[in-house]
Amino acid sequence: MNKAVEDALNGQIKMELDSAHLYLAMVAYFESQGLSGFAHWFRCQQEEETEHAMKLFDYLNDRGGRVLLQGIEQPPAEFGSPLEAFERSLEHEKKVTASIDRLYELAVAEKDHATAVMLHWFIEEQVEEEKSAEDIIHQLKIGGDTGTALLRLDRHLGRREAE
Ligand code: MG
Repeated sequence: MNKAVEDALNGQIKMELDSAHLYLAMVAYFESQGLSGFAHWFRCQQEEETEHAMKLFDYLNDRGGRVLLQGIEQPPAEFGSPLEAFERSLEHEKKVTASIDRLYELAVAEKDHATAVMLHWFIEEQVEEEKSAEDIIHQLKIGGDTGTALLRLDRHLGRREAE
């Protein structure tokens, strides 16, 4: 397959694994805060990110490309507060969206139609990723990120089902 597209897909695999690692660090942070619902939510998120990486991994293999794994970014250990954690998560997802958009533009420029079509799923998924982080940030801002409102949100997030 096209070398530039292959390299960019490998870069995207790294980014999805970075996402999984960042969210796993958030699981550890929320567990340390006794917020098991938030921890559960990020555990589901971490699993999704690993699936995103594997979707690209399998696609690259199917196309006769070569998967080359890269080092994963070390995530922070502390996130300050639930609100700060979700703000960081949103900021990270916006970077992922920009990266997928660039990858799509590259696939189109290189006339790699199969990759462009495969990326439609990721483009739609990013709309969901940003929306879910924004919704929770909104709830944390309205209810505050301490006390009863926080515990209620923790219970709610603890009911997220893995997809
Ligand atoms: Mg992702």
